[in-house]
Amino acid sequence: MADADPSLDSEALHRKYLEERDKRLKVAGRSKYFALEGSLAERFDKDIWAPGDGTRDPVVREFEAVVVGGGFGGMLAAGNLRKHGIAAEDMCIVERGADFGGTWYWNRYPGLSCDTEAYCYLPLLEETGYVPKEKYAKGPELFEHSQRLGRHYGLYDKALFQTRVIDGVWDEETLRWIVTTDRGDELRARFLLVCAGATNRPKLPGIPGVEEFAGHSFHSMRWDYGYTGGGPEGNLTGLADKRVGIIGTGCTAIQCVPPVGASAKELFVFQRTPSPVNERANRPTDPEWAASLQPGWQLVRMENFLNVISGVPEPVDLVNDGWTRSLKGARGVFTADKSKMKSKQQLDADDFAHMERVRARVDSIVTNPATADALKPWYGVLCKRPTFHDEYLQTFNRTNVTLVDTQGAGVERITPRGVIAGGKEYPLDCIIYSTGFDVSSGLAAGLGFVPKGVGGLTLLDRLAREFSTLHGMLISGFPNMFTIGFSQGTLATTRTYDLTVQGEHAAKIIEYCRARGIERMEVRPEGEAAWQAEMADKRVDHQGYFEECTPGLLNLEGRGGQVYDFYYGAGPVAYRRQIEGWFANRLEQDLVFGPPEG
Ligand code: NDP
Repeated sequence: MADADPSLDSEALHRKYLEERDKRLKVAGRSKYFALEGSLAERFDKDIWAPGDGTRDPVVREFEAVVVGGGFGGMLAAGNLRKHGIAAEDMCIVERGADFGGTWYWNRYPGLSCDTEAYCYLPLLEETGYVPKEKYAKGPELFEHSQRLGRHYGLYDKALFQTRVIDGVWDEETLRWIVTTDRGDELRARFLLVCAGATNRPKLPGIPGVEEFAGHSFHSMRWDYGYTGGGPEGNLTGLADKRVGIIGTGCTAIQCVPPVGASAKELFVFQRTPSPVNERANRPTDPEWAASLQPGWQLVRMENFLNVISGVPEPVDLVNDGWTRSLKGARGVFTADKSKMKSKQQLDADDFAHMERVRARVDSIVTNPATADALKPWYGVLCKRPTFHDEYLQTFNRTNVTLVDTQGAGVERITPRGVIAGGKEYPLDCIIYSTGFDVSSGLAAGLGFVPKGVGGLTLLDRLAREFSTLHGMLISGFPNMFTIGFSQGTLATTRTYDLTVQGEHAAKIIEYCRARGIERMEVRPEGEAAWQAEMADKRVDHQGYFEECTPGLLNLEGRGGQVYDFYYGAGPVAYRRQIEGWFANRLEQDLVFGPPEG
């Protein structure tokens, strides 16, 4: 962020932000979503990428480790297990999709790209010797990298794809997890690693009439190239004679609107809240720069990026992109040292100045003044995930593209002919729901099963009774189980950083147990209590800030609260230091080994 602009009327901006938020709050009831079950699941949640139905004989076997989830979380956990002594044939990844990749397996929409820098985001670049093609990797390259990791660590052979875990039960007699699946498998595991990810299911808005539409419709997470033609690079020839509607203007829509706009006869983009669209400036990787990198460079770069965007002083901004320019100097959502935070006035002034530049960018690109006005975000920099694109705003200058701004109200109804918004019907051939991922249906929906620990206690009941973990990874009553990417852990903008750090931590604890012949390991309640105290101590209170934001994921859809309360407030880099320090100094104090006491 550059310095604040003294000419800005911060009182007026503040009032405007509250007015815009209140428009959304008035129609808060319309934030509902349909559960993807029955015919809706068949239509919107089916695995359209799988080559066949995955029929195979059930596997009945014992493994050292069973990993639930084959996205980057599961792969990094499994890769770390390999590095820490478990052979590929002694572990099994169970994955719903027909390949590894998770997010990058399911999402294949045109224009798909990772909005954080590839040199930070793509994990294990040094180990695999891979150099990303561009500063920001596109979908196919991301998916290919997950396949590369699968090959590198020899994970394909024992992986069970197109398979859902339906139960995981701790057996105190044999000290094993018994994992059963919808393919009839019975896997006995000494260690269970739950890495199911939080964004693995499409979210369908609860707009009345979704099932009545007589044209074609699909969710952006299951892009139907059979209908649109073309591929991830665009050239969607099947849309040349079609009137298409895209519902939603979040991170996904920002990326898929340009290729659809370039291909469709007509495109209508239905907007409830505009996203902030910053400059992207992608560029090919400079081979000389890549060759000059020294061993250990990737961790240094990742942590430099995370520090810069959290306001932790760094002598140089290595990534130097839209993220770091947007968030440098902003209220760090995570703050390693609360005493060094800037004053509220200074933070507000920086925030207003940055968002003014985002709004000015809209004016400098979009030629129709009414459309430009509607595309301007009126909220603070931390209220919504920033987006980065150099063609999205430009797409609204096309004569075949119309922005339908619903003034915070959202789409009212789907009819057999099309979409009703603002009381007007828009007849369409195709509706694309770019309405995000289901992160709010709860743990069971996200995992697909509910682990049952000591005495058959379900994880849901345990967490309802007491929501406490150690590092977001170990839960008392659930021996030999690790949760990765879960609450009370860490949340980095470069999510693969968290998954690498947690995967390694789990693998080190498992290695420790195996080296000593320890069959059963469980966290003591005192260990969890110490982590709860540390979480409370490091919590950064942004409550007032998020209350003034337009409803969204980060302020729990305006219900009060902040999503960051579920994660370690000192930030991801401090989290890594914490768990490494714990491993060196407190492991034996906080874990209990051997059969249950008493
Ligand atoms: P989002 O949840 O960000 O956006 C959903 C969109 O649907 C919003 O614009 C929302 O409006 C809109 N919407 C919901 N209901 C209605 C309705 N009834 N009428 C009109 N509009 C409606 O989903 P995305 O798929 O865009 O992104 C999900 C997450 O995926 C992101 O938060 C990000 O973490 C991740 N992502 C990451 C990328 C990366 O590069 N790393 C790329 C793409 C996605 P409103 O804003 O008003 O709620």
